[in-house]
Amino acid sequence: MTSNRFCVFCGNPPEKKNREHILPQWLLDLTGDPKRVVNFGTNYKNGRTVRFDWLNFCVPACESCNAEFSNLEGRAKSYVLRLTAREALSSIEYSDFLDWLDKVRIGVWVAYHFIQGNPTNIEPSFHIKTRICQKDRMVAIYPIAGDGVGLNAFGVESLIYHSQPSCFALRINDLLIFNMSTDYLFSARCGFPFPKSRYIALDGDNPYLMHMSDFQITRRVKHPLVRWKIAKPSIHLYQPIMNGSSDERFQSGFLGDYNSFDSYLARHTMPPYPSGKGILYFQHQDRVEPIIDINQPIEFESINGCESRPMHELVKQVYKFQIYLFEIGEFTAKNRELLISQLRRKKALIKWNKNVISYYSALGNL
Ligand SMILES: [Zn+2]
Repeated sequence: MTSNRFCVFCGNPPEKKNREHILPQWLLDLTGDPKRVVNFGTNYKNGRTVRFDWLNFCVPACESCNAEFSNLEGRAKSYVLRLTAREALSSIEYSDFLDWLDKVRIGVWVAYHFIQGNPTNIEPSFHIKTRICQKDRMVAIYPIAGDGVGLNAFGVESLIYHSQPSCFALRINDLLIFNMSTDYLFSARCGFPFPKSRYIALDGDNPYLMHMSDFQITRRVKHPLVRWKIAKPSIHLYQPIMNGSSDERFQSGFLGDYNSFDSYLARHTMPPYPSGKGILYFQHQDRVEPIIDINQPIEFESINGCESRPMHELVKQVYKFQIYLFEIGEFTAKNRELLISQLRRKKALIKWNKNVISYYSALGNL
């Protein structure tokens, strides 16, 4: 299944090539027989269903890149073990865990390009190193009923995920971990700088580049951080991430921040200032709590019977949010044909997700 062309971490031809397990060995051991054969969906080139065991879910990587990330992998293992025991992690640990989710989300995306025979015909324009901790990100953790053992990645086979790997979920035994990350998803509502104007120009000098302008900052938190309804999880954390910029107008070195010192941002980012990396915000049902003390343990919140959602509802939520995130992206093009074909493509990708959503809704009606 692997292609030898590039390293999943740096995107260069792999140096002293070795293989990176996208879903690491420790996770496979934790969730069943690592040699179990799994259905990975369809290869759109030959129409065949792709099946192989988890241990072969690998992509090429440089030896040095792999080594660079092995410490994160070790820490992620301890976080997952503690989460499965419903133990608290601190803000700093959750922020690190969000790095790991970025790594897995992008790694799975690269792997699926190979598995599915690249159906949307795009070349990965970024890799793990250039995408980790780069955009607003969130995690919601749901305890699920039963004491089953298992590992699933939801949303990763969708065509929207193919063009935009911004939302997926991992089921690890009796936990469902829902994760989203995209540009300025909730920066504004955390009181961070955000561009009023944002679009992707499909043609011109830099096709597919995001154009952002008219940056503003309110320094006020707004509840809820994301306006779309999310099923109540036990852990519900948001972390705004500022983008580095060499534009001299932005004196702190981050996009949209015109000041060399901003007391709101200093209080609401991880030390040392200016890191551009937000603290975590806990989204409660009735309010948003900025977690200023980064060493404070963050405990699981209990979920009442009436708030708890069955697994298929939580899986459906992944495909719904993929649509939401995909729809907020605006496009322009000088070439009308290009714009029309882009809109047509967008419609087809959304329809694909809507079919999956109907499937899960039907499951709920059984
Ligand atoms: Zn590399």
